[in-house]
Amino acid sequence: VPLTVHVPLDAGRAYDILIGRELIETAGAQMAALGARRAAIVTDENVAALYGDRLRESLERAGLGSGVVTVAPGEGSKSYAGYAQVCDGLLALKVERGDLVVALGGGVVGDLAGFAAATLRRGVRFVQVPTSLLAQVDSSVGGKTGINAPLGKNLIGAFHQPRLVLADTAALDTLSEREMRAGYAEVAKYGLIADAGFFDWCESNWRGIFSGGPEREEAVAACCRAKAAVVTRDEREDGERALLNLGHTFGHALERLTGYDSARLVHGEGVAIGTALAFRFSARLGLCPGQDAGRVANHLALAGLPTRLQAVPGGCGDADALLDAMAQDKKVRDGALTFILARGIGQSFIAPGIDRAEVRAFLQGEL
Ligand code: NAD
Ligand code: ZN
Repeated sequence: VPLTVHVPLDAGRAYDILIGRELIETAGAQMAALGARRAAIVTDENVAALYGDRLRESLERAGLGSGVVTVAPGEGSKSYAGYAQVCDGLLALKVERGDLVVALGGGVVGDLAGFAAATLRRGVRFVQVPTSLLAQVDSSVGGKTGINAPLGKNLIGAFHQPRLVLADTAALDTLSEREMRAGYAEVAKYGLIADAGFFDWCESNWRGIFSGGPEREEAVAACCRAKAAVVTRDEREDGERALLNLGHTFGHALERLTGYDSARLVHGEGVAIGTALAFRFSARLGLCPGQDAGRVANHLALAGLPTRLQAVPGGCGDADALLDAMAQDKKVRDGALTFILARGIGQSFIAPGIDRAEVRAFLQGEL
């Protein structure tokens, strides 16, 4: 029996997140229950080879017509060209307003397919079938969809909520160790934001998440519940949803400075370093006990994640390069930086108007 997390939104909108092993095999019945006749799958080459046929067969067993649009794996597909490829592919499959677009893959496929669904024929319904840990705990929930522009990540997008999320935790068995670790940075993040008890739990149970024990479903459900609660209260990030960006102001700057080259740094690794930095910065500002900052870095390191700027392969430039990269972030207003800082584990808060000079001095100490 899968775990269910219900996500209520305003105007009577709502959707369920189902979490359990082998949900891809029964996905067709779930989607038929949404009243669709046809479902078009968007996926990437890696995931297509592993799970494409299984999902298609499940849709066919449920009497749903289907077709597949496959993009190249990696962040490069979250681009204007990737978007055109997906939209043209869906149109060639004759996807209409009553049909479903099904995103089968990691966060790249989810963001890209979701954005195509948001805009194709002014909006078609879509379902997320996230297959990376990061996508199961973060990107598939909450309705943020989009692509990157040459000037920055996620600059083109739309809010478009899925009608259903099927997180098949057995699919994570084929995920690389590195992608698993990267997703785990986002798992730990939920404890660090507002749930010290969950961080304690992670410290004792993280190995079960990696090895596929029952802790995996428990952790995915806990993260989805935490994210759903925030999204219900602040769907469009007018306020507290920004807390989910803990570690991301630094992290996005590092991704930018490494050219979004996954051979050097993947998103979750940037988030891990960024989270450790956010806690050390909080400690330096006298906001957070140094002991908590140490505990955060130790745990991330134990799980195999990087926690220091020196760990960035090929380096990340000096403090000014980092500051400039951070200033490109959407969270920057009038030159002052907004950070998510912490008073301790599970006590993060939005700190607007952080002085550039203060950040600069901190980063120089870190380099
Ligand atoms: P990804 O989609 O590139 O997947 C990582 C790699 O794992 C890819 O090579 C993929 O082919 C492979 N893969 C996926 N599932 C697999 C499986 N089950 N077995 C084997 N290989 C598998 O990257 P990601 O880390 O999942 O997502 C990162 C993206 O998510 C970024 O673009 C980021 O901006 C976005 N994101 C969006 C939100 C949101 O709210 N919309 C939140 C966080 C991150
Ligand atoms: Zn993230």
